[in-house]
Amino acid sequence: MTTIEYESLPAVASEETATRAGTVVMKFGGTSVGDVERLKAVARRLVAAREAGNRVVAVLSAMGDTTDELVRLAHEISPRPKARELDMLISVGERISCSLCAMAIHDLGHEAISLTGSQAGIVTDTAHGKAKIVDIRARRIHEALDAERIVLVAGFQGVSTDFDITTLGRGGSDTTAVALAAALGAEACEIYTDVDGVFTADPRIVENARKLHAVSYGEMLEMAASGARVLQLRSVEFARNHDVKLHVRSSFSEAAGTWIREEDERMLEKALISGVTHKSVENVYRVEGVSAAQLFRALAEGGINVDTVVQTGPEIVFSADERAETDAALERLGVEWSTRDDLGQVSVIGAGMRSHPGVAAKMFSTLEELGIEPEIVSTSPIKIGCFVPRDDVERAVQGLHDAFELDRPEAARTHG
Ligand code: ASP
Ligand code: MG
Repeated sequence: MTTIEYESLPAVASEETATRAGTVVMKFGGTSVGDVERLKAVARRLVAAREAGNRVVAVLSAMGDTTDELVRLAHEISPRPKARELDMLISVGERISCSLCAMAIHDLGHEAISLTGSQAGIVTDTAHGKAKIVDIRARRIHEALDAERIVLVAGFQGVSTDFDITTLGRGGSDTTAVALAAALGAEACEIYTDVDGVFTADPRIVENARKLHAVSYGEMLEMAASGARVLQLRSVEFARNHDVKLHVRSSFSEAAGTWIREEDERMLEKALISGVTHKSVENVYRVEGVSAAQLFRALAEGGINVDTVVQTGPEIVFSADERAETDAALERLGVEWSTRDDLGQVSVIGAGMRSHPGVAAKMFSTLEELGIEPEIVSTSPIKIGCFVPRDDVERAVQGLHDAFELDRPEAARTHG
């Protein structure tokens, strides 16, 4: 099951928001700000939103691979860079995008101001590299909006209660955007990215995959946790907890994308399944000689999100994304363990499966017909995930997409 710690909404937000309609938060990912031309295109889009009468807050990611490059540089200079210094370093990428974009907006004859997370009043706890937002002191943003400026906020970062610069974890600009949308009372949070939206399966694997018009928060959480890479998992949890509607769309076109919002009847009517997701590689661990309580305490202390867990007798099998951290935690625990990475996972997800039986039956018979044998199965009320040999993952995705008829027009659902 997918659970994340609840991030509370900053108290300051509720007093300041309700009266200020027409605020939009627009987030642009790394590819969308990948070079100077793209930054200029983002500037034009922001200006258009401003000219349409909106109070515009933009959250930008770092350009292209900047963050990866900075992380690489840190490890080149030191085998174990201190987390505080790493955050000082990798928070810089977003600052570059925002200041450059502000310059481009000025050249279009509009007012804009770029702010670091700290200047924007994003206060976090002290967990470097995976900080949680504890407060948003939005006064400065409001003042700039009142002065008719477009406000550019560096994503992925904040300032801790100890006054250090922190980052929110990889992909964290999504969370910055959602948190700002909640704190500013924005009508929606637009996530501009390099894909057209959320699809019924990865279009690189399934040619006739469809763009979904609407997905529920619960479905999106399961999708993000089981391989859909379009949104950071935490940002979806935040959006659900604070009722922020998300619109995931392409920064390269005007077309509508996918709305992520509260579940409604229409999501349950047509297709039982909203999509098939996959992970090409799963790190599966096998541990013996330790109680589940001890093991999972150690993993939690290491900040590791455990996914699937199976216990049979003295043996515990689980999967986790953070390979290095998990290895280290198990070493510290001093238990007997082994790992295998020859498995991937394929999952079917859909709010409709809560009320309609037969999804598991169809999934297993489809896999059987394909001659694919699931080794581990994990379920939630709206997801069934099968661990299958890595080499079979793509075939399984294609077969399940066909079996659940996700290529039909109805599978795309409707919004609005
Ligand atoms: N630049 C950061 C990263 O690459 C944050 C983000 O893009 O959301 O993880
Ligand atoms: Mg991203």
